[in-house]
Amino acid sequence: MKCDLCGGRVSEEKISYTLFYEGHWIIVENVPAKVCNQCGEKLFDADTVDRLQATIWKKQKPERKIETPVFNLAH
Ligand SMILES: [Zn+2]
Repeated sequence: MKCDLCGGRVSEEKISYTLFYEGHWIIVENVPAKVCNQCGEKLFDADTVDRLQATIWKKQKPERKIETPVFNLAH
């Protein structure tokens, strides 16, 4: 399979999907994705997108919470 954007080689991987949603960063681990080795574009199956949206929108209880360090280059 090839990348839609650059034509690079795409491999199946499990990634951590991050999203800023309602004022919080959300991380969903072990998301199956096809990742381009060349440009880093991530492609998801329709089924995976459905499951991601269901997980985020239904506000399921997270498996665990982590602290996130925030840096600021303005200082
Ligand atoms: Zn690509």
